[in-house]
Amino acid sequence: MDFSRINSEINRLESCINSPKPVTATEPLAVGVDLGTAYIVVVVLNRTGTPVGCALEYSQVVRDGLVVDYAGAIDIVKRLVKQLEEQLGRTLEQAAIAIPPGTEKGNSKTHCYVIEAAGLAVSTVIDEPVAANAVLQIDHGVIVDIGGGTTGLAVIEGGKVVYTADEATGGTHISLVLAGHHHVSFAEAEKRKHDQSLQEENLSLVRPVIQKMATIVRRHINKWQPKEIFLVGGTCCLAGIEEVFSVELDLPVFKPGNPLLVTPLGIALNDSSALREE
Ligand code: ATP
Repeated sequence: MDFSRINSEINRLESCINSPKPVTATEPLAVGVDLGTAYIVVVVLNRTGTPVGCALEYSQVVRDGLVVDYAGAIDIVKRLVKQLEEQLGRTLEQAAIAIPPGTEKGNSKTHCYVIEAAGLAVSTVIDEPVAANAVLQIDHGVIVDIGGGTTGLAVIEGGKVVYTADEATGGTHISLVLAGHHHVSFAEAEKRKHDQSLQEENLSLVRPVIQKMATIVRRHINKWQPKEIFLVGGTCCLAGIEEVFSVELDLPVFKPGNPLLVTPLGIALNDSSALREE
């Protein structure tokens, strides 16, 4: 698969972090909010779908897809929205949001209340894999989204999501293994996990966790006999994770340059109230 289009879109989004692009005073802006276990990300696109702003904050207000610190979540979304409004010189009015597959209605309502309490109307609520596929645009294959707390997966056939699942395993478990091995705090283990110079060592230590993740994915996708796997989500930033998945699943596995930003970008692309085809 040719990732050049996807990587250039993600690069453009990355370049907006702390460095917003100019917008006119009246053009409609599309907004996506990703309320994640590890990061809350707000993405702003202009009406052609080009990223113009992006703000994110590490947080622990959501666990396994549930908002566990309601007031804290509102504070962070408010802060990120204010930051982007000041940078862009515009008021943000509405946003698309995403929930993990299989989230109960009551829990997805809580996500909506957070966004509304932060001053944005919710334009649409979509499943995270649907958001990811707005960026990847896969016709056939499986998207595996490994975040902080959960691993979501979606089987795509004919461009449509035909099966989804969400399992409680993710980057948090990888950090816990590193913390246990090095006898350090969770925060210290997170730092080690992100350290580019330790990627090879980290991979060898957490390989069994990744193998377990791949086994879980295999259980879900076996009957669909997919030909390709696409990795997204922050945990897939781990160098070499794609090879472990490929060996375990005996399938070609692809991942874009910065898998962390795929779903947030896809959420904003689903704020169709503001987007139009050029
Ligand atoms: P969830 O989808 O479970 O609700 P989330 O949306 O916050 O969580 P992401 O933002 O996709 O998930 O990913 C967060 C995870 O990615 C965290 O565990 C974080 O430590 C991990 N992560 C982020 N960057 C890197 C990196 N460079 N190397 C390894 N792990 C990383």
